[in-house]
Amino acid sequence: MKIEVLRIGQRLVRDDRVTTHVALVSRAFGASKILMQEVNPEIKKTVSDVNRTWGGNFEVEIIDNWKKVLKSKKSSFKIVHLTMYGENIDSVVNKLRQEEQVLIVVGAEKVPREVYDLADYNVAVGNQPHSEISALAILLDRVLQGRQFLKKHKNAQKEIVPSKQGKKVIDKTID
Ligand code: SAM
Repeated sequence: MKIEVLRIGQRLVRDDRVTTHVALVSRAFGASKILMQEVNPEIKKTVSDVNRTWGGNFEVEIIDNWKKVLKSKKSSFKIVHLTMYGENIDSVVNKLRQEEQVLIVVGAEKVPREVYDLADYNVAVGNQPHSEISALAILLDRVLQGRQFLKKHKNAQKEIVPSKQGKKVIDKTID
C-alpha cells in the first residue's frame, strides 16, 4: 500500500517542531512521502539526515499550492482527511486497508470546507480535538497494524538492536 501525507495550513507563527514531528511520524509509521508548503528548509535537511543515518527513501516535497496538489492526486489516490468531525476510525479502517494508494490530509489550523468535500474519507480519531501528530500516528498504525515497525532499511548506516537496558546500535558502515 502506498501512503503519502499532505499537511495543509501551516500556522502564521511557524511551528517547526510540530511540522518536523509530522514528517518524522509519517516516515517512521510507514508513509513514503510528505507534501508541505512554506516550511523551513531546515526540516527537509533534518529528514534527509535521518534517512542517511537510519535508512529508507522517505521524501519531503515542498509545494506551492495544496489545492492543486489535492485535486491532481485525487485521480490516483484515495483522499483520507483526518478531522475530529469525521467518521469513527473503527468504522472505516477495514475499507482503508484495502486501498492501494492513499493520501492522508492533516491540518495545522482551521481546515477549509473544500477539503471535507474533496475527501473520499473524513476520519476521526475520537471526536475530541487533539493533534495532527497523534491522529496521523494512530491512523497509520491502525491501517498498517504494526507491520511498519518490522521494516528494515538496507541503506541504513545504523541499526538498533532492541534491548532491555541501554542502547545497542550496529554501525553498518564498518565491516
Ligand atoms: N480546530 C481545527 C479544525 O477545526 O480543523 C483543528 C486543528 S488541529 C490542532 C490540527 C489537525 O489535527 C486537524 O486539522 C486534524 O487533521 C488533526 N486532528 C485533531 N484532532 C483530531 C481528531 N480527533 N481526529 C482526527 N484528526 C484530528
